[in-house]
Amino acid sequence: MTGPDRIEARRVAVREWMSEAEVDALLVSAAPNVRWLTGFTGEGLLVLGERGALLCTDSRYTVQAAEEAPELEAASDGGHLEQAIARINASGAGRAGFESGHVTYASFQRLQEALEGAEPVGLDDRIKHLRAVKDADEVALIRRAAAVADAAFVELRARIEPGMTEREAAEELRRQMVLGGAEGPSFETIMASGPNGAKPHARPGEREIIEGDLIVIDWGAKVEGYCSDCTRTVMVGEPDERQREVWLAVREAQVAALEGLRPGMEGREIDAIAREVLRERGFEREFGHGLGHGVGLQVHELPTVGQKSENEVPVGAVVTIEPGVYIEGWGGVRLEELVLVTEDGAEVLTLSPYDLQ
Ligand code: ZN
Ligand code: ZN
Repeated sequence: MTGPDRIEARRVAVREWMSEAEVDALLVSAAPNVRWLTGFTGEGLLVLGERGALLCTDSRYTVQAAEEAPELEAASDGGHLEQAIARINASGAGRAGFESGHVTYASFQRLQEALEGAEPVGLDDRIKHLRAVKDADEVALIRRAAAVADAAFVELRARIEPGMTEREAAEELRRQMVLGGAEGPSFETIMASGPNGAKPHARPGEREIIEGDLIVIDWGAKVEGYCSDCTRTVMVGEPDERQREVWLAVREAQVAALEGLRPGMEGREIDAIAREVLRERGFEREFGHGLGHGVGLQVHELPTVGQKSENEVPVGAVVTIEPGVYIEGWGGVRLEELVLVTEDGAEVLTLSPYDLQ
């Protein structure tokens, strides 16, 4: 549960940005940003003034808004954008910021047309950057999501067997997460067996799992809106030499990055640690994607940890470390941990068993 004080502190941080950007009002329209700043999980927009705030929603959400954001003024008459415009006009704002990445062209035209005293000012998504550093309530929810996902994985491992299809195995994992207290999966589970493992984002299909398969399992749970994200690559039966070699190379790359991670490093520096290990093992070209990404209300958010990521990875960020090797026709190995960045380095939040078999 996120306390009202935490949410108030987030609005204080956003108001500091508003004064830097010299806007008197801010229209927040990205749904995760609205949720982060209010606790409200329905559909709506938020207008932040220098002091007050108005949640613009509709009659479907009146009760929900009062429950989830009791301290906040909410309006539910008329369209969301029209309510927001009316509030900005009534506030006498001279400059009204909006999130330029999250406003349609039609809405922008409407702002230009209907704002009376205020000039609409397109702003970058600073809230997304603020969300990269998690507060204690957010870390607690992500920890819970990770723990639910870990427990579900242990259940799946006891049940998975040759003859099961990928889709059945993925469904079993989803069921276990829900039984364990998740709202649901945080994204569509990847259950890529045998040669399907070569596709980093394979969708679970009708392929039956057979003895000798490596299976890339990438899954996460969602708890109160917060996501977890974890990958294990398991073996059905005894691994052969090649399977063992690839798995160990990926694990070695991952451990190097986990041990080398320090707060304040740029994402690309962390990515380079793992990539260097895979280069030494001859798998550089088989590792096509970035090493990781931030996780929170969204399963992919800031900071990014890829080859081109110049953003710093600060204390309080929650990121994944997920090197992989993908070989067409053979399959793949990916191992992913979710970590909290601390003063000392990385605290691993995902505790699913690691053995290959
Ligand atoms: Zn993942
Ligand atoms: Zn991931």
